[in-house]
Amino acid sequence: MPSLNILRDLKERIRNAKHVVAITGAGISAESGIPTFRGKDGLWKQYRAEELATPWAFEKNPELVWKWYDWRRGIIAKATPNAGHVTLARMEDFYPEFTQITQNVDGLHRKAGSQKVIEIHGNLWRVRCVREGKTFYLEDVPLREISPRCSCGAILRPDVVWFGESLDPELIRKAHEELAACNLLLVIGTSGIVQPVASFPAIARQSGAYIVEINLETTPLTSLADLSLKGKSGDILPALFDFQSDS
Ligand code: NAD
Repeated sequence: MPSLNILRDLKERIRNAKHVVAITGAGISAESGIPTFRGKDGLWKQYRAEELATPWAFEKNPELVWKWYDWRRGIIAKATPNAGHVTLARMEDFYPEFTQITQNVDGLHRKAGSQKVIEIHGNLWRVRCVREGKTFYLEDVPLREISPRCSCGAILRPDVVWFGESLDPELIRKAHEELAACNLLLVIGTSGIVQPVASFPAIARQSGAYIVEINLETTPLTSLADLSLKGKSGDILPALFDFQSDS
């Protein structure tokens, strides 16, 4: 538990920050009932995510991969944003510059009302034609057919970034720009091992941003943070960013 002085200093920084960036990972949605990849609930039929969320798995067995996504979409469809998502959405009104960079594909930040979200790993409600590359939202739960097809006849895939795939360079550019310009960076609910997002905090650090990590556990990013707060983001975020009582 940080000392009172440290917490007072943090409150001051929170009040005075002008440009804030929040990086979020699966942990922020855990309290909405969405399993993280690395917790034991993240397993599906004994497969690890790294065995299913890859272009090779999809090439070999698209049906298996789609069944897994159908399972995940079923869980996510029932989920509602928690106090962590809602607090982040409110920050958009409070700070002159505010951006979220999320690794999550569940769409819960937008459902909470956030608009300034860079969904760096895509969105699992969007699909992409493997032949034409066109994307659109397909929100049936459960899917009407496993391995859905495009009107051109080609197979559709979830429009998410799989292990071993590159991120959209335009989204990376935008994220870098925000990270280099922010003066407060929040790193929330990410294990800090999936690249390139795991190296994003170092960009903010180089530009002199103050970094606060919120997580249940210590991660490879903890040593880079100025302050590491251990606990649930759904409890910590609303307690820290209590804008009404601060104003
Ligand atoms: P991860 O599963 O590797 O790690 C989750 C982290 O969240 C852990 O460090 C854990 O300690 C922490 N955590 C768990 N509950 C928390 C809580 N209530 N409050 C604060 N922290 C909490 O997740 P990752 O780092 O995001 O990387 C995994 C990849 O999996 C990402 O690429 C992401 O796209 C994908 N993913 C997304 C979702 C989603 O969209 N909701 C869910 C699972 C995985």
